[in-house]
Amino acid sequence: MILLLKREAPEGADRELLRAAARLGVPGRVLSGSWGRQAVELEEPVAGRALRLLTASPFVEETLGVASAHPLADAEDEGVVRPVEVGGVLFGGDALVLAAGPCAVETEEQVEQAALAAVRAGAKILRGGAYKPRTRPSDFQGHGIPALRWLRDAADRHDLLVVTEALDERSCGAVAEWADIVQIGARTMQATALLKVAAKCGRPVLLKRALSATVEEWLSAAEYLLDGGAPGVILCERGSRSFETATRFSLDVGVIAAARLRTHLPILADPSHPAGRRALVGPLARASIAAGADGLLVEAHPDPSCARCDGPQALLLEDLLPLAQEMAAVGGAVGRTFAVPRAARAAAGV
Ligand code: PEP
Ligand code: MN
Repeated sequence: MILLLKREAPEGADRELLRAAARLGVPGRVLSGSWGRQAVELEEPVAGRALRLLTASPFVEETLGVASAHPLADAEDEGVVRPVEVGGVLFGGDALVLAAGPCAVETEEQVEQAALAAVRAGAKILRGGAYKPRTRPSDFQGHGIPALRWLRDAADRHDLLVVTEALDERSCGAVAEWADIVQIGARTMQATALLKVAAKCGRPVLLKRALSATVEEWLSAAEYLLDGGAPGVILCERGSRSFETATRFSLDVGVIAAARLRTHLPILADPSHPAGRRALVGPLARASIAAGADGLLVEAHPDPSCARCDGPQALLLEDLLPLAQEMAAVGGAVGRTFAVPRAARAAAGV
């Protein structure tokens, strides 16, 4: 981004502006010569408050090449979250949030058991796929509407919110009817037709980061939702594809921290999909919270050995409480809180 100064700007106004930019954490350099007046080049991205303050200088006449591609998703002030409230649950406040449940909704009883375990661990949101994006057409694709009903009923019995994926424009309406939050999966993060429909479905949207999306692309996808009128957008990092095979995907804690600076949107982390196996979920969950995530979206199943989808990475239901305790412990170290219900603490003898 280039700031062109007024011709009447006093000598040295360019260096003065550069110092102001540096104080705002924006590096840059003085441009000499060809502009015919003083000019300063700032490194992208410049957004929010920094952009406003710098362009408000009385010496600045014109800005070139500003335009963030996602002004609605950009942070007003670096690192400052604008919390999103959904049905009494605050995403992006001091308190961390936990969403838990099976990868796929399989039976009414399975979601009931998961909901019970989730609420006992302090989760506020029940997750579970009714429409599953599967690699192979022969894989279980989800039960659709009946699954949405089972999720809703279980969530209502336990005072939980429901988050579940809308796979395409067609399923978005049904998902919005039964769920509190519409999830857009990693594979469809850039399905712009779906984003446009999801934006108008009347529900807040949880937007997973695609397997190889840059932060720029992720925020641009969020911009589609915000621009289309979505009443709230919550981001969720779920790992990207890398050369590594010891994990299923590479959870990008760097991206959690970097995105935190650039957007006001709350950011959750899904430690389950990058882990690929149960034993790695805890460490990735801890790392996510330490990196600044506002909460977790975690897979848990009453009997992972029989799961129709992602069994190896599903926590046992009894693993949810220890996970919640770790959220409270790591969260406490980074200025966040997580309330583990008293009954659960008592039952666990803590
Ligand atoms: C999910 O959370 O159910 C899911 C399918 O995740 P992702 O889109 O991140 O693969
Ligand atoms: Mn899954």
